[in-house]
Amino acid sequence: MTTTAKSQDPSSKRTSVFIVGGDPVGLSIAILMNRFGIDFVMVERASSTTDHPKARGC
Ligand SMILES: Cc1cc2nc3c(=O)[nH]c(=O)nc-3n(C[C@H](O)[C@H](O)[C@H](O)COP(=O)(O)OP(=O)(O)OC[C@H]3O[C@@H](n4cnc5c(N)ncnc54)[C@H](O)[C@@H]3O)c2cc1C
Repeated sequence: MTTTAKSQDPSSKRTSVFIVGGDPVGLSIAILMNRFGIDFVMVERASSTTDHPKARGC
């Protein structure tokens, strides 16, 4: 994920919860952490959404 703001650079933050991956599991955990007011940092290696759907028969 590309960012220009240093304050948003994950490597410059300290946190007790580090979430790797921003897809269904990572995003669900992030929403729960936010709901409970728990500070976290999430990183995602992809700079955009996938080219192909990853759920076509839910
Ligand atoms: C073609 C296709 C169709 C599907 N159809 C269905 C369906 O109909 N119904 C259904 O229930 N499921 C379906 N699935 C499965 C569903 O997409 C997965 O079960 C679900 O995406 C798993 O979510 P996840 O968050 O565990 O992992 P993923 O979706 O794999 O997410 C992992 C994330 O972590 C990131 N990541 C990995 N390593 C790193 C790293 N080192 N640093 C930073 N980021 C990292 C990845 O870029 C990715 O964004 C389908 C999958 C595919 C491929």
